Amino acid sequence: MRQWIDVIILIILIVLILPSLLVAMFSKRNPEMPPPHVDSYDEGESIQIKKSNATYTEPTITLYNHYTKSFESMPLEEYVVGVVAAEMPSSFEMEALKAQAVAARTLAAKKMRSKGGRGCTKYKGADVCSQFNHCQAWIPESQQRKNWGDKFEENINRIRQAVQETRGYIMTYEGQPIEVFFYSTSNGKTEDVAEVFSASLPYYKVVESPGEEGAPRYKETFSFTYDEFIKIFHSKYTNSGLSASKLDKQIKILSWTDSGRVRELMVGNTKIKATEFRTLYNLNSTDFSFRFEQGKVYIDTIGYGHGVGMSQIGANAMAKEGKDYREILKHYYRGVEIEILS
Ligand SMILES: [Zn+2]
Repeated sequence: MRQWIDVIILIILIVLILPSLLVAMFSKRNPEMPPPHVDSYDEGESIQIKKSNATYTEPTITLYNHYTKSFESMPLEEYVVGVVAAEMPSSFEMEALKAQAVAARTLAAKKMRSKGGRGCTKYKGADVCSQFNHCQAWIPESQQRKNWGDKFEENINRIRQAVQETRGYIMTYEGQPIEVFFYSTSNGKTEDVAEVFSASLPYYKVVESPGEEGAPRYKETFSFTYDEFIKIFHSKYTNSGLSASKLDKQIKILSWTDSGRVRELMVGNTKIKATEFRTLYNLNSTDFSFRFEQGKVYIDTIGYGHGVGMSQIGANAMAKEGKDYREILKHYYRGVEIEILS
């Protein structure tokens, strides 16, 4: 009899408690709470979009399209679709795609001449160009179809959704669109903007960017024969005193930044910045180290890109953890507001 009572009590407990447990597990976290894993998150900072009565009047943007070598004007949101399609794999989480859409829109807003920006400095008459290494990447529909084949409809619909659901929103600091930087993969931390660009911008701090270790380009090794290495170095720095017979003794890292990337190194008798060294050898990042084995220089790199601002792989990792696009953006861009472009 006693056993039966225990069983009945157990059933009652399961019936009463299990549903509330399930609700607690699967319901969305209170959006007022900061993301729990972000330890240096500014206390008390709201993650809500800034309350604004502003209505969005979609502006027109003028693009220099380097595929057709022509200038094209289009609605801003249509341009943002082409940027997200070019800058982030469409298979990424929806919240990561939305974070990318806001970043792309912000970069455009900052440059638009009708909003007080300077436009693209390479192609006069354009607000932005489609070159990834100048303004930001943008691909036309023909290129999207080429890249995606029979997945075109599915992929473009995801990107259109990300753009639509963030329609008009940009990141601002003290009421102005921020200077946006983003990149592919971090080394586990973001970089201070001053280490890479000659700029001091308060919203770029060194922050953690976990969950990137499995990314395709997280770790890569570049190798050069001693002669190749010296030839490349001499293409820019002629009197370095480098010699193939003692190269392994002639390269020395002098200092590292707070994010663990190299700041400066000595190559022969020449002191250079890691950012210049990275460009010279076309390395993935400035988080690198050297190995000298069997007559070759091996340069092991971690991360892909300059490290300033949002890591796209990191954004996807945060989205997988259930963070929304505002939490992702406010993690990588500290102290910004997310508000309607006016
Ligand atoms: Zn440009």
